[in-house]
Amino acid sequence: MSFLSQLADREQVFTFLTPTDSPVDVRHGPILYLEDVNVSFDGFKAINNLNLTIDDGELRCIIGPNGAGKTTMMDIITGKTRPDTGSVWFGSRHNLLNMNEPDIASLGIGRKFQKPTVFEALTIFENLELAMATDKRILPTLTARMLPEYRERIEEVLETIGLTELLSRPAGILSHGQKQWLEIGMLLMQRPRLLLVDEPVAGMTEQEMERTAELLTSLAGKQSVVVVEHDMGFVRSIARKVTVLHQGSVLAEGSMDQVSNDPEVVKVYLGEGI
Ligand code: ADP
Ligand code: MG
Repeated sequence: MSFLSQLADREQVFTFLTPTDSPVDVRHGPILYLEDVNVSFDGFKAINNLNLTIDDGELRCIIGPNGAGKTTMMDIITGKTRPDTGSVWFGSRHNLLNMNEPDIASLGIGRKFQKPTVFEALTIFENLELAMATDKRILPTLTARMLPEYRERIEEVLETIGLTELLSRPAGILSHGQKQWLEIGMLLMQRPRLLLVDEPVAGMTEQEMERTAELLTSLAGKQSVVVVEHDMGFVRSIARKVTVLHQGSVLAEGSMDQVSNDPEVVKVYLGEGI
């Protein structure tokens, strides 16, 4: 019996809802829009008049020295941190500053933290099943009738993250890199419109980094992906448009070549190289 149907037998309380009835409206503008956002922590301006727009389906890399405000920016988008002033919109319909964290997540904003948090004792397949079962938007009925659809989605995601052959192995046997892909897969189960990924390749081997580059690049177009990453080689390998944050503001934006030749950016990265 599938893990999901066991869950159904135990719970029997799930009701089926169609996916969110308030789709993101990107007909006239970007999918994500931050305007004049400010955040202070005890008088220290972590985010300082930040302006940022992300287009639907775009893959954006965000770079910047330590303390530039990259993680705080993600905290603001996901509702974890409230800005002091400014606007944050998801499409033209959803003012994220009026919403709490779970509601923002269920609009289709998925966030991948640095440390993988897969369930090691469950199989790869079960991890993906569980990710779907916790989707607030499509709390499934978990009936046998629905299972083929779930299975199809899981197979699709397994293919995308390259773990099809390991589907019935416990997640605990996966390498660090494979766990990161599984966690991205768990986010994909919920069909996010925007994926926020914080330092995906930290601790990965060269080969895993290459595979992660392919994975993130393949996601773009289907959803918007914002990648914060320190590894410049990696950023260069996936970069389309790059935003450089510094002291809580955008210092430069453009292609990797444009930003890495920008004298202001070079100054900020002095000694580190870009
Ligand atoms: P990055 O991710 O670019 O390295 P962060 O967004 O983590 O930068 O941090 C930006 C700045 O804000 C840093 O100087 C950090 O120390 C500070 N900061 C972040 N979160 C908090 C917090 N909850 N309380 C106080 N200071 C914070
Ligand atoms: Mg950070």
